[in-house]
Amino acid sequence: MKKFLPFASYNLLLLFQPPVGREHFHCDMKRGFTKVRKEEPKVKALLEDNTPQRIGLLAQKGVYEFHEHPEMFSRKDGVEQIAEILQLNQELAEVQQRVLNILKNYHQHPFLLNKKIIQLSRGDEGFSEPILMEIGDSKFNFYAAIDCIFQESDDTLHILDFKTGKSDIDRRQGYLYLLTASYLYPQQKAVASFYNLDTCEHSELIRADAYTLEAFAIEMKIIAKKHQEEKKSYYYYRQEFSTVFRPNPGIACNYCPFKTICKFSVSEVSV
Ligand code: SF4
Repeated sequence: MKKFLPFASYNLLLLFQPPVGREHFHCDMKRGFTKVRKEEPKVKALLEDNTPQRIGLLAQKGVYEFHEHPEMFSRKDGVEQIAEILQLNQELAEVQQRVLNILKNYHQHPFLLNKKIIQLSRGDEGFSEPILMEIGDSKFNFYAAIDCIFQESDDTLHILDFKTGKSDIDRRQGYLYLLTASYLYPQQKAVASFYNLDTCEHSELIRADAYTLEAFAIEMKIIAKKHQEEKKSYYYYRQEFSTVFRPNPGIACNYCPFKTICKFSVSEVSV
């Protein structure tokens, strides 16, 4: 019988430890909704009804389609053609407008054009194959969805993450990409960076030494174990949801996707 292993990912790390400066938005109960109650119809609907995520996904698909059809870079109607491939006219007006701007930006500043692309994700491929990590006597699956990998002229692998909107950069995500690269391409040097498709701004390059990568691998082991334990507790005592996943009512509720179904929600708390 296949043994079920704990898992970790950047997304899970975010749900345990918010980035610096966003601590007041943290709530463990959000992790509970997102990770253990995600199949409940009401929770599922709230998780799917997410405009920023939709924009991010279509922006990523747009970049992918441009590189699938490189002739679009030199066509005057390239943006419209890609919008048609994406069936953008079927999206909400806000989504259409934002994605169209992103496509125009990319048409004018095709960051990856002439780069040696090793991998470019469409964004809707589902979960990637996990990396099996063994740290000490613990084994767990590590998931990392990489948007793009290209090769620099000196053969260094460059892992690129696309951002949209005002997404803050979390260097931890860059380190986790480098951890992934150290498993997938152990012989090659790697760097990571972020590229904002709305603003056409590129982050600084992130590099990591072996000690930093080891520290992140250990961190992943710890959260994989913690999450495994809290899932077990919840499945044994479902009525104890709020004991296992502690609510943090307050400012966090204003921006929480679950505020309409969470009995601890308080709204209109000013920052
Ligand atoms: S509504 Fe508030 S208490 Fe409830 S899960 Fe969201 S942030 Fe936590």
